[in-house]
Amino acid sequence: MLPLNPNLQGEIVVVTGGGGVLCGCMARELARQGLKVAILNRTYEKAVKVVEDIKGAGGEAIAIECDVLSVESVKRAEEIVTADFGVCDVLINGAGGNHPKGITTKEIFVKNDLNRDDLTTFFDMTPEGFGYVFNLNFIGTLIPTQIFAKQLIENQGTIINISSMSAPSPMTKVPAYSAAKSAIENFTKWLSVNFAEAGLRVNAIAPGFFLTEQNRALLTNPDGSNTDRTNKILAGTPMRRLGKPEDLLGNLLWLADKEASGFVTGISIPVDGGFMAYSGV
Ligand code: NAD
Repeated sequence: MLPLNPNLQGEIVVVTGGGGVLCGCMARELARQGLKVAILNRTYEKAVKVVEDIKGAGGEAIAIECDVLSVESVKRAEEIVTADFGVCDVLINGAGGNHPKGITTKEIFVKNDLNRDDLTTFFDMTPEGFGYVFNLNFIGTLIPTQIFAKQLIENQGTIINISSMSAPSPMTKVPAYSAAKSAIENFTKWLSVNFAEAGLRVNAIAPGFFLTEQNRALLTNPDGSNTDRTNKILAGTPMRRLGKPEDLLGNLLWLADKEASGFVTGISIPVDGGFMAYSGV
């Protein structure tokens, strides 16, 4: 268990996608650290579940139904957060994910694939499928950032975006997701420069491979065993395991703490068991 950090006590954090596996874990830890946590999630019930856990453990949290792709919805959420908690200190842009329409069946295309009806190849991808994934990850970060950044500037706060190992080097099968996460890293740098003089820091965490709902079908077979892709991932991960949501928390707390990381902005921190460092040979 991580030590409690008095610097974070009483701060206000907004977590988009906080009803999900990774950001739900972040939300619980931030509440344990004494922050007031607002969970903005499209599926309200998921946010409520995390809030119940937090309250059950003695923390303070509110669940807000919010679609990060709707300016009106995020503005409504901002009003609720401000009225219930006050001006926020930390924004975690965690809502994100993939969609079957942005995924190819095979890792690598060969000419004969054109004659096969049973495959989704690059040529079957649609702008709509790409758009769904790109919007969720990128526009879904842009909108909450625009809406909460003024408050964050007021409090000399910080933004933490969620990237992926797909950003520095794109993963096979998931072109839309890879492009969107790459855009997140680029945008993190842009924002960090744009807001540096105003005192707002913007960084990202890039998780490696964590088994969650959004990637379960890619990583596990129906009988629960590893897919070939998972075995490949493990072979490419020097620490030889998938990540656990708790692995993200140390960096999260460090980035949220303006004393500990007060001169850090515009970076993306891999939490990947060495995946990015390993050439495979
Ligand atoms: P998850 O699916 O468990 O959580 C995502 C949450 O976002 C869900 O609660 C969902 O309801 C919510 N959401 C989806 N669309 C939304 C919208 N339009 N508005 C508001 N909320 C919305 O996924 P996770 O694995 O916990 O992923 C969290 C973040 O981490 C994502 O950005 C994901 O891309 C990223 N990530 C995950 C992994 C991994 O291995 N799981 C790796 C790298 C990065």
